[in-house]
Amino acid sequence: LSDRLGGVFDRLTKQGALSEDDVTAAMREVRVALLEADVSLPVARSFVKAVTGKATGAAVTKSVTPGQQVVKIVHDELIKVLQGEGEPDALRIDNPPAPILMVGLQGSGKTTTTAKLAKRLKDREKKRVLMASLDTNRPAAMEQLAILGTQIGVDTLPIVPGENAVQIARRAKQQASLGGYDVYMLDTAGRLHIDQVLMDEVQAVRDVANPRETLLVVDGLTGQDAVNVATEFDAKVGVSGVVLTRMDGDGRGGAALSMRAVTGKPIRFVGLGEKMDAIEVFDAHRIAGRILGMGDIVALVEKAQEVLEVEQAERMMKRFQKGLFNMNDLKNQLEQMQKMGGMQSIMGMMPGMGKMAKQAEAAGFDDSVLRRQVALINSMTKKERANPDMLQASRKKRIAAGAGMDVAELNRLLKMQKQMADTMKKLGKMGKGGMLKQAMR
Ligand code: GDP
Ligand code: MG
Repeated sequence: LSDRLGGVFDRLTKQGALSEDDVTAAMREVRVALLEADVSLPVARSFVKAVTGKATGAAVTKSVTPGQQVVKIVHDELIKVLQGEGEPDALRIDNPPAPILMVGLQGSGKTTTTAKLAKRLKDREKKRVLMASLDTNRPAAMEQLAILGTQIGVDTLPIVPGENAVQIARRAKQQASLGGYDVYMLDTAGRLHIDQVLMDEVQAVRDVANPRETLLVVDGLTGQDAVNVATEFDAKVGVSGVVLTRMDGDGRGGAALSMRAVTGKPIRFVGLGEKMDAIEVFDAHRIAGRILGMGDIVALVEKAQEVLEVEQAERMMKRFQKGLFNMNDLKNQLEQMQKMGGMQSIMGMMPGMGKMAKQAEAAGFDDSVLRRQVALINSMTKKERANPDMLQASRKKRIAAGAGMDVAELNRLLKMQKQMADTMKKLGKMGKGGMLKQAMR
């Protein structure tokens, strides 16, 4: 029976695999969506190319079209790129006073973001923050920061007319030490375009302050430009993270992908308005949905996958009721457990498994064990999975070696399968009014 079921599945997945044509057709749409979202052309091109390779041959979930499936794959890949290695949400502000350097073009939102972050640090992390404006080009810029400081209850460095940016940075550092501040934030001057004067100044400030974080503030409504800006700033001053502003606007935020792909720098925060609370930690899922602009399709495919999982679970429950539980079932279970975040949660849900869950816990059973056990099962032939009783010494040796583990580990797995199979048989015998049936309702 299980072989027959397995056969049906194999056919299904083969039929429902994405062909090159499927992927190519869907990718044309994706490419347009990316460009409309303001992703730069080279980034859109190389992203599409990379995902095309990955998507071809992937399985299609029942009841969605190949095109929809491609969109979902693209979406997931987008999240991966945007998320990168995953930076900590919090700013690094050890060793007080920790300097944070804010850089970016004029009008990108540096001053606003400086104040927003200062407020966040004060409110959420109870930090004492000092802000200093280094924008000597425009006297109004210094006042702008002072006004924001008053508004949010954060100190600003007193303005001394005639000082240059480096002098202000020195004074801020000194003041931050003397005043016992946890953090001091340096809001630098921007220019309309990157030029040598600006870079020299920012470099000089950086050398004085030796910042813990150098945050590049970029207007999220800019596309290709954002990449150039990020590349330049990173090359000249070294950037530890990016803040994308104006994400409350109509733009689809393609700049995020472009910058991430080209510079590899993590996007740490997004600005969502002019108000002082309008800033959030970067959320790759949200931005991915926005860039792709195909949220409905993604939701549809996710739903279809959920339904399929429920169907699979029901199919398995039927097998259990008949007292059937071979290695394929165990593998399914193990994979489910991995997905659901651990042994205890799922075993706790299965009648009669509570005790085993406790034993497993006591035996130091964790997710790495799950992975190893799945590897062992993968190393078995189809026949062996269906009839684990047939495993004799030579087969065991081969299977263990194939998975790069020793026979003792395989024996533990076999014992576990046997215990579960026995339990299933007992439960199955309880018949229609049995616990299992009840548990399914
Ligand atoms: P700076 O020249 O880089 O210091 O830029 P500012 O901080 O002075 O910001 C320029 C303008 O953009 C101001 O009017 C801000 O209120 C506005 N701004 C900054 N961040 C955001 C944001 O996330 N959303 C919106 N809608 N406006 C923003
Ligand atoms: Mg400013």
